[in-house]
Amino acid sequence: MSWGYGMPRFCCITGTDTDAGKTVVTAALARAGADAGLSVLVIKPVQTGAVSTGDMGRDAPDLLVYRDAAPHAVAKTLVLFDAACSPHLAARREGAVLDAAALARGVRELTAANPADLVLVEGAGGLLTPLNEEETLCDVFSLLGWPLLLVAANRLGGVNHALLSLELIRARGIPSPGFILTDCIPQPGGAAGDHDVARAIRRDNRDIITALGRSSCLAELPFLEGLGAADSASRNTAWSEAARALAPVLVGLPESDSPGAGRAPAETREEERTRDAALIVFDREHIWHPYTSALHPLACREAVSTQGVRIRLRDGRELIDGMASWWCAIHGYRHPALMAALREQAASMPHVMFGGLTHEPAVALARRLLGMAPAGLEHVFFADSGSVAVEVALKMALQYQQAAGKPGKNKLLTVRGGYHGDTMGAMSVCDPETGMHSLFSGVLPRQLFAPRPACRFDAPYDESSSAALEALLDAEGACVAALILEPVVQGAGGMWFYHPRYLRRVRELCTEHDCLLILDEIATGFGRTGKLFACEHAGISPDILCLGKGLTGGVMTLAATLASGDVARGISAGGGVLMHGPTFMANPLACAVAGASLDLLANGNWKQDVARIEQRLREGLAPCAGEEGVADVRVLGAIGVVEMDRPVDTERVQQYFAERHGVWIRPFGQLMYVMPPYVIRDEEIMTLCAAIAGALREGAWK
Ligand SMILES: *Cc1c(COP(=O)(O)O)cnc(C)c1O
Repeated sequence: MSWGYGMPRFCCITGTDTDAGKTVVTAALARAGADAGLSVLVIKPVQTGAVSTGDMGRDAPDLLVYRDAAPHAVAKTLVLFDAACSPHLAARREGAVLDAAALARGVRELTAANPADLVLVEGAGGLLTPLNEEETLCDVFSLLGWPLLLVAANRLGGVNHALLSLELIRARGIPSPGFILTDCIPQPGGAAGDHDVARAIRRDNRDIITALGRSSCLAELPFLEGLGAADSASRNTAWSEAARALAPVLVGLPESDSPGAGRAPAETREEERTRDAALIVFDREHIWHPYTSALHPLACREAVSTQGVRIRLRDGRELIDGMASWWCAIHGYRHPALMAALREQAASMPHVMFGGLTHEPAVALARRLLGMAPAGLEHVFFADSGSVAVEVALKMALQYQQAAGKPGKNKLLTVRGGYHGDTMGAMSVCDPETGMHSLFSGVLPRQLFAPRPACRFDAPYDESSSAALEALLDAEGACVAALILEPVVQGAGGMWFYHPRYLRRVRELCTEHDCLLILDEIATGFGRTGKLFACEHAGISPDILCLGKGLTGGVMTLAATLASGDVARGISAGGGVLMHGPTFMANPLACAVAGASLDLLANGNWKQDVARIEQRLREGLAPCAGEEGVADVRVLGAIGVVEMDRPVDTERVQQYFAERHGVWIRPFGQLMYVMPPYVIRDEEIMTLCAAIAGALREGAWK
């Protein structure tokens, strides 16, 4: 079975009767989902007839069945009663009160707290099983509004029950993809004639329910003796067979827009609105966001979940993400392979100190990184963010020159228009004007700046482009420890794409002047520019390489600084040690996810995807070039940029993007730009481009 990688699927399961086979169907659907590589959440909102699990413990019998079928599925119940009877009666005996709105809310909360690709909710009894004197389970399904599957027992009398249920589902306006027929009893024995009649009834049941119920038979589940076997191997085989029979049902389920979708009674909606407003107010009053004022913060929206290329907001809307969460989410959000790596690592060792201890996730990741990195890099330092990786790179360079007996080589050289992070050392090599130098002028070390490389990526190379840099090195080279820059694409400093020949010249000059070359590929690494690393455009290798952002596919914070063997050994040649060691160095969770992300790159289609995105962005953004206020339109790899001739009103245009086009694009300065996850589909790219074009046409950016 192949899955479109996209939004999660939600569905409720009800039966024509108590013993129609609901639980077996639910468990088998969970198994089918798990077998297809999905994360699965199964919820039994109300369970009666708790079973004892020894040690005075008790459990919900249906949860045990789910776990038997799909051990990796998360199974939850909201209320568990001891008495084996109807929920309203069990509740009354235990002095409890059931109400439909609370159950529906509970289901939504469980769903939000346990994000999964597939969420199954099993009812209790049939649709009209009472919860209290006024409500039935049907009210819970109605409040949730999720697709409802009917499990119909294929037996004498089954047609009547199935048709009544389907009629009620339709009357309540609950979406229903169809029904599943189950054989709850073995094929009857007896005389051959009886046998034929029984078979005929079964076949006829399916056809007549389909016709009279105006519904589709989604699957038929035969009676599987193995499900009741005492040994788990036989049960496992039977579950796998049941899952195969039901897998088509899952494929047919619509990808849902929101676990919060469906209808809520007026007062619940009011309560929710109050809660949402309080959350935003607290956020405004007490929490800093990137580069914002505590007094006049920019507006914020509440995100509740992510999947694929979409971000879901509290109000139920979804936005197509054009930013990949600032370059990170290259495979899209919650990719099953990354989630699986995270869960697996969390189960054994989320974190352990790296001083004096090592672990497999770190070693495996280092092996992979060095195997794929530009030639000559042999040593890895795992840091916890990009800025820290840059600090470490700068320290490496300074320590290396010191150890080499050249303490006078203690300045850093860079080009204007760069961005390398927000910590002190990193800030000192950011662009001195768009960066934050003026605020920290007394504290920041003064570095050397060459002009921004002016030669465009897509224009013929002009040899004089590097003249100013050459002059600077001729004058100051003796005191330069290292030159740091972003290869080919300058990101947050202006989204500028320069010619690879310039980078090749930089490599030559560094070697000539005995200064190390540090390449900051935190934004460009892992395929974004069409090459695995942007320095491949120039066919060069740095002495030190910084990686981050996309390293874990956007799941965890992790960065790495790679060094050549010469640099690594040089630092310690005189007995010195590299002076850095963060608390969360080489965090195992992050390393495990990064390993899985690199596997996806190694085995996946990133190259074709990035080429495809580049093509679509070129087509989609081309019309922008003629619009009023546009200074330049440029595309490289999976990065599309529209540069304006004056600053953009970030808040206004972001609002326009979200409200009018359902896209998440966050401009800064004079730039509107996108760098979507590589899994984005063509039509979604077109939506991003149309949003930018629309903002230009309608003047929504000014
Ligand atoms: C984002 C970025 C950094 C800083 O990384 P953080 O994880 O935000 O500290 C450094 N260099 C470049 C090129 C970046 O894009």
